[in-house]
Amino acid sequence: MLLPPKRATPPKPKALSLWEEPNPTEPQTVELVVLASSSAGNCSLLLRGEGRCRRITLLDAGLSPLRVRRYLATLGLGLERIDDVLLTHLDQDHCHPGWVKQLPPHAKLRIFERHRGRASRAGLLKRRTDIFSDEPFHISGNLHITPIHLSHDSLGVVAFRIDLPTPVPDTAPTSLGYATDLGRPTEQLVTTLARVDVLAIESNYCPHLQAASDRPEFVKRRITDGGGHLSNEQCAEAVRAIAPQREVVLLHLSRQCNTPDRAAAHHHNQPYRLTIAHHQDPTSPIPISSESCAASSSETPQRLG
Ligand SMILES: [Zn+2]
Repeated sequence: MLLPPKRATPPKPKALSLWEEPNPTEPQTVELVVLASSSAGNCSLLLRGEGRCRRITLLDAGLSPLRVRRYLATLGLGLERIDDVLLTHLDQDHCHPGWVKQLPPHAKLRIFERHRGRASRAGLLKRRTDIFSDEPFHISGNLHITPIHLSHDSLGVVAFRIDLPTPVPDTAPTSLGYATDLGRPTEQLVTTLARVDVLAIESNYCPHLQAASDRPEFVKRRITDGGGHLSNEQCAEAVRAIAPQREVVLLHLSRQCNTPDRAAAHHHNQPYRLTIAHHQDPTSPIPISSESCAASSSETPQRLG
């Protein structure tokens, strides 16, 4: 009896190592996606690498793990691709409690030392968590992080300068500045973020809409007295002082006391591309590394909101 020819067994797909670091001599594609930004939740992704091999750093985690998972699924990625979570502070719009249980075990939560007590009460120290000080440090992907401590409510917030590894020695690293819930811009913020390639910074409120709003006076004072948020004018002033080289992303627009047009009005005729993060919808990927930048240089400027 003739047996049907044996089918060749297809080769097993090569398992992707979760721990594989990029070769430092090869340029790495890095992109920023602001998933959402407002007082209802702030979360951005720093995506490193290509396609389904991408690894992720979260910048703030103020959206539920379910929402982040849904977005990642559109890229063919899962939560297990997250290596690090950098938290500017622990208010719920920047740190959703769902992450205590949902963050993959290998992923490191990075929390500023002044937030340690609050982190402990929130259960964030029961898992793999690193406490950082004012000193620069490295995270996965050989990203170099410089924290900048600023006033915001009682414990303050941290802004970050993120420098990508340089494949060619003696060349300037490509860099991202990430600054939100600032209170007021400081000299240290401006000098540390000076001339970053891409600057993501809050532009929270229009003073006229804030004054005319029905918010209680103590809330208005808390927002505007230098320990709360930046107005559109203060944001634009900080941006001019920092002089980013390529792109500005406006974060955390108040839905009640701001509009995308009012925020954008302070950035007309400037030498950078402008993106306005939406309170609910993700931005298109914003190239940070020069490689991903070259690939998207033909795209038109983007405005959301
Ligand atoms: Zn906030």
